[in-house]
Amino acid sequence: MVRLGQEHIGEQNRRFVVILDDDSEVEAVLYRGDTLCISSQVGCAVGCPFCASGANGLARPLAFEELTGQVEAVRQAGHAVRRVTVSGVGEPLHNAAAVEEFLEWCRDGGIRRSLTTSGGPTERLVHFMVQAPHNGLTISVHAGTEETHRRLVPHGPTLDALFGAVGEAYPQLGTRRRKKTALAYLMIAGDNDTDAELDAFAARVAPFPLAVHLYAFNPVPTSTCRPVTRGRYEEAYERLTGHGLRVRMSSQARIEANGGCGTLVALGKRRPG
Ligand code: SF4
Repeated sequence: MVRLGQEHIGEQNRRFVVILDDDSEVEAVLYRGDTLCISSQVGCAVGCPFCASGANGLARPLAFEELTGQVEAVRQAGHAVRRVTVSGVGEPLHNAAAVEEFLEWCRDGGIRRSLTTSGGPTERLVHFMVQAPHNGLTISVHAGTEETHRRLVPHGPTLDALFGAVGEAYPQLGTRRRKKTALAYLMIAGDNDTDAELDAFAARVAPFPLAVHLYAFNPVPTSTCRPVTRGRYEEAYERLTGHGLRVRMSSQARIEANGGCGTLVALGKRRPG
């Protein structure tokens, strides 16, 4: 049902083209030899302008067997897969039933599992935060104001709705679940990198002391978005920690050009000829 196509080997990551039965293609990345990032849809409807995965819109969701098939195909190619993250091509909450079944399959197989979501539909976000069997859930926020959020996550929920869902779920989370939940902020030069935007984000996060992942941006050919300088990235870290937030910066594997965040590509069904 799922087979691996071309493989790109980088310094830390191995990126695989995944070919599906209907000849659609998505990608999966093996980080540091044992953590597999898989795709949940062929394309994505959210349309974030910095991301290659949604550049061609959404073709279709992946079936449960196509989610497990990515893990099995990479194992059959001789790699250990001890952790899985549903953070590749697609919005997991737009394919929620199959993704939740996949998380259960990972749990039953002793695989640690996490996911990344832009947060909509928000009732599903509350469910996934409170009940889905994950070991880590990262909510992509990337903004402090509605205007910037609408630009960067065009077909996601509004920021008010997103933080409304976080506010609904947060009191229901035990200490361990709170530690497993994080908010992400991807820095883009000349866009969401102003002090005012960072301050507005910090103010929204303040009532929910969750960890913040501050990501450096990986340039992709389909986007005109640009990364901030290392200096500005470090200033943003200082600013957010100055507001009392717990902030983590990108690991080397996440910013490697070969398979870093937002760089995975989906191709819809190939047309004959
Ligand atoms: S960043 Fe995620 S939600 Fe946004 S377009 Fe890419 S895959 Fe979709």
